[in-house]
Amino acid sequence: MQLRKGILGGTFDPIHYGHLRIGEAAADAFSLDEMILLPSGFSYFKADRKDRMMDPMVRYEMTVLAAAGNSLFSVSDIECRRAGNTYTSETLQIMKESDPDSSLFFITGADALMGMRKWHDPETLFSLCTVGVCSRRRQTDPEELNREIAWLTDRFGAVIERFTVPDIPISSEMIRERLRSGLSISGLVPPGVEEYITANRLYSVPAAE
Ligand code: ATP
Ligand code: MG
Repeated sequence: MQLRKGILGGTFDPIHYGHLRIGEAAADAFSLDEMILLPSGFSYFKADRKDRMMDPMVRYEMTVLAAAGNSLFSVSDIECRRAGNTYTSETLQIMKESDPDSSLFFITGADALMGMRKWHDPETLFSLCTVGVCSRRRQTDPEELNREIAWLTDRFGAVIERFTVPDIPISSEMIRERLRSGLSISGLVPPGVEEYITANRLYSVPAAE
């Protein structure tokens, strides 16, 4: 079957309603049949984050809990079950090979798009998917975003389409900070994710330097 598959990659540390809303908005905007949530493996880009990144399988489990109960979403473990760095270009190749007839839409926020020129093998990456980008106003200047889209299109033949989603003032960083300060995260993440975080006491203790 020729499906239109969305892929929403992220650290998901932890996954939150912002992620699910952009997944839903992208599915509407591009008439997607499904949205695959793709928790990253260990990311060398975030290796120097001051609070260490949560284990990939923990982020995967939270993502599965977030996807439960919404038939649009599924979760891929391609990246988080692999050791070492994983590259989106390789992941998209694996997905394309396993289902050559379907088309892939890689969904991303503007802040992530701004870094994509430095990702591994951008030629392959952009040849395998349409990129759907939504603006994240607090994090990216719209003028800079326009320039970057033009540059990626010109340089790599990237096909980049915008979609809009109301500003969602949630980030994983904000959730980690609230948990460190002992504040509630209810309403920011799905209930199953909140329960998992509480039960496992995640993010409450600052990581050792
Ligand atoms: P952190 O605060 O740790 O950077 P994050 O909330 O940005 O985490 P990521 O896992 O880094 O989450 O993001 C995955 C993808 O979701 C990225 O493309 C990012 O731009 C997008 N995204 C995350 N939160 C939002 C949001 N509130 N609005 C729009 N896009 C978002
Ligand atoms: Mg981020």
